[in-house]
Amino acid sequence: MQNLRVRKNDNVQILAGKDRGRIGKIVFVDRKSRRVTVEGLNLLTRFQRPKKAGQKGQRVQLPMPLPAAKVMVVCPSCGKLTRVGFVFNTDGKKLRACKKCKANF
Ligand SMILES: [Zn+2]
Repeated sequence: MQNLRVRKNDNVQILAGKDRGRIGKIVFVDRKSRRVTVEGLNLLTRFQRPKKAGQKGQRVQLPMPLPAAKVMVVCPSCGKLTRVGFVFNTDGKKLRACKKCKANF
């Protein structure tokens, strides 16, 4: 399976949907479905019914996963929206690299 270019704790901008253009931090990556969950974005409001008499129902907002292809990484080094490439360091370890400023992260 191909690795995703985004990881947990990356800052990403959402490219589609109602939160298009907003930036948030990835809190969960599902490699299998290639979806990511972004903190506080792509929220779905659920209504919770009162469970007991006298208790109020409440609205609960949950961030929903969205396809990793619909987000773009914000480079921690240059701050631009960028695509992510891979480079190998001298130990042969694979690192991610910003396509714009070439910084590794
Ligand atoms: Zn960069």
